[in-house]
Amino acid sequence: MKPSPLPPPFGDPKRAVWKSNHHAYGPIGELLYSASHFGCAITTDLVVRQPREVEFSLHLCPFQYLKPLVTQTVRVFRSKVAADKRSILKDTPEIDFKMLHNGLRKISNADDNRRLRWYTTLSDWNNDQLSAIDFGKREACDCGADSPSLAHLIWHCPLTQHLRESDGPVDYLAGCGLPCALELGIPSAMPANPDSLPWGLSDYDPWSLGQLSAVAKFCDFKFSFGDDFVNAQTCYRDVLVNFPHLAGHNARQLFAFLRGPFGDLDLELPTVVGSHNLTTCATYTDGSLTSPTRPEWSLAGIGIVHSHRSVETPMHSNESTFAYCEHLDGALCMWAPLPGQFCSSTRAEVAAGLLALSSPLAMTIGTDSACFLKPF
Ligand SMILES: [Zn+2]
Repeated sequence: MKPSPLPPPFGDPKRAVWKSNHHAYGPIGELLYSASHFGCAITTDLVVRQPREVEFSLHLCPFQYLKPLVTQTVRVFRSKVAADKRSILKDTPEIDFKMLHNGLRKISNADDNRRLRWYTTLSDWNNDQLSAIDFGKREACDCGADSPSLAHLIWHCPLTQHLRESDGPVDYLAGCGLPCALELGIPSAMPANPDSLPWGLSDYDPWSLGQLSAVAKFCDFKFSFGDDFVNAQTCYRDVLVNFPHLAGHNARQLFAFLRGPFGDLDLELPTVVGSHNLTTCATYTDGSLTSPTRPEWSLAGIGIVHSHRSVETPMHSNESTFAYCEHLDGALCMWAPLPGQFCSSTRAEVAAGLLALSSPLAMTIGTDSACFLKPF
């Protein structure tokens, strides 16, 4: 099969010609055609690749994460296209959809909710196109401003200044130079640099800490710049030294790259335990996940302890391939991070249990996971 040349990028006048000249044949053709529309490519072994994103395999990734992975791929591309076409999103190359949905749920006013939802549809219609069909024409503001936007009325119009001044947080935020999208409640994806403002670009902003402290105080939110913050700064600098190509990635993309792709999990069969060797070893397994409700920030890890296993007992290839091992007081301790863009605490518990089964000794397993225990 001969690879076809890349399609013209979105916005290129030749793209319409390319679209009308190319037709999809069969399910694989439809798949490749759709992928090119969403700014990604599918390799001959069905791996989906997109700029700045961790790749995933359509047939090897855990099935429960296939839909979220495809959804994220499409959202990333649609965000980028919308940012190029709509001036309101110009400083927001990626929207934090999770935060947006949480915010929308808290808006009780139906009009406000509907208005914000319209801006977040990422519609391809810009104001010029709306004007062309007689929508989107606006009267001048009473303050004299031409074509006043909603953001003008809320944040910039001198006639509404007294309303802003009557609300502490709004008055403060009006002087913070918020991106246009955030002025209307659309949050951008957070930059990776902990020194930046959550709504800023990746560059360091010397005012960010002061602004964050002030906003936290207004919202009565405890915000600490203690050890965790210093650790985050150190980690970010270490990552950039070791992986300079990750500069410019946002926080979600940086986390995804640090965890790595799901990869191929090709476990060898466990060692057969002979009937003469039925002295059981007490084994304890555990798996855990940080931030389980925010998969973009979650980190999964597993731990296994074989309480009586000497250094003479050979390691199984699964154990030496997938875990860090250390002998301690006659016990074998193993631990490992779990790669992949998504995870769950159940998956982490099951992974720990599966790896423990590779031990060449008969064992009893202690676990606090009902899901792992159920099949036994
Ligand atoms: Zn005005």
